[in-house]
Amino acid sequence: MSDLRELYQEVILDHSKRPRNFGRLDESNRQAAGHNPLCGDKLMVYLAVRDGVIHDVAFQGDGCAISKASASLMTETIKGKTEDEVRALFGRFHDVMTKDDAADPEDLDKLAVFGGVREFPVRVKCATLPWHTLIAALEGAKTPVKTE
Ligand code: ZN
Repeated sequence: MSDLRELYQEVILDHSKRPRNFGRLDESNRQAAGHNPLCGDKLMVYLAVRDGVIHDVAFQGDGCAISKASASLMTETIKGKTEDEVRALFGRFHDVMTKDDAADPEDLDKLAVFGGVREFPVRVKCATLPWHTLIAALEGAKTPVKTE
């Protein structure tokens, strides 16, 4: 288990130091802002959605390693998925971090690295902030999302 934990930490560190899909998205047609006052994480999520499919996604902002890595991995995971698939994925991702009896995280692919966050409940908000912001963007929210 400790090897796995080390691997997970490496993935999170890598994504927090070199976030993927970081920046603005010129062709974005949905966007939302998110803020986690508890930790100070702030970000913007930009989406290019066509026919209910996430064609492209990018994010900007600053925050702790967990929030940045989560945003980076989220952008990698959701490209090409439908809005419904993305919502279902967030539900399972959330379960893995909050429920002891959550389904096997293996099939969450890279998002499984956040399973360890379950031991640090205060960090769950850091990891879910990008996802809450994503859902707000899909729903066309006009006001920033707050985790508090
Ligand atoms: Zn944070």
